[in-house]
Amino acid sequence: MLFKRKSPLGLCSLCGQVYSKASMARHLRKHLKERQGNIPLVWLRVTDATPWSVLPSQAFWLDLEMPLDLPLVDLDDFLRAVWVECCGHLSHFVATYQGATIYFEVHPEEPIPTKEDLEKEFRLDRDSITDPSAPLWVRFAQAFPGPGGTEMPANLFTVGDLAQVVDKFVYEYDFGTTSRLDLRVQARYTGPRPEGEPAIRVLSRNFKPRIPCDVCEKPAEFLAVDEEGYYQALCKQHADEAYDKGEVEYLYPLVNSPRTGLCGYEGSYEAKWKFEVLPPE
Ligand SMILES: [Zn+2]
Ligand SMILES: [Zn+2]
Ligand SMILES: [Zn+2]
Repeated sequence: MLFKRKSPLGLCSLCGQVYSKASMARHLRKHLKERQGNIPLVWLRVTDATPWSVLPSQAFWLDLEMPLDLPLVDLDDFLRAVWVECCGHLSHFVATYQGATIYFEVHPEEPIPTKEDLEKEFRLDRDSITDPSAPLWVRFAQAFPGPGGTEMPANLFTVGDLAQVVDKFVYEYDFGTTSRLDLRVQARYTGPRPEGEPAIRVLSRNFKPRIPCDVCEKPAEFLAVDEEGYYQALCKQHADEAYDKGEVEYLYPLVNSPRTGLCGYEGSYEAKWKFEVLPPE
């Protein structure tokens, strides 16, 4: 499967213009200067970092704007709806501070501890904590720096608890055939609160990758997997032919998500988040 373009194209949702992945960030910075409002916001660029992605990881990105007070679990809902949900797997966010790694579990084991429980359990009143006003996970890292990790319930934290402290964190969905996404802070600023539920505004996203059919080079619509686990990109006609000949073990729709071809992924389950438009030639 080959990719014609080095820097894939995407659509700016604010003005409808087309830019490459590389120049979209620069373009969006111009829009930020026009934003009016006093809600503390963050712009995150989400990219695919899954080692076993079937489609090329560099094809995908989402530029997202959200308030710092957005619950982390709302961002999980959003990423599921737009890019990853197949069959209700577990997920978590991962952030590292002073070498300590915290896993923010979206579906933690019961009973779910409160912040007070965690403060007591970890004795987060100790002298080694340099910033008593920092989010709980940061105080934990200050108390227990260095390699090692611990789990905390994601529902106790906001996006800002992470995005105000670190410039990059990770999202993982499905601990079997894992999809791994990088979330990078592009800017922190103030502006209007994004409308809708959850309060996340898509600033830009990539067009559907133009992947040629392995047989005829028309845009592929399916990924066919044979008995040996070998993938082929196929147009509708050649997918049907391969299927009729019994050459196909499983046929995935080729959709605009880095989870295409993994587990049972078939595309966004919410019509408003489907974006299956090919880039202009
Ligand atoms: Zn624009
Ligand atoms: Zn699944
Ligand atoms: Zn074909």
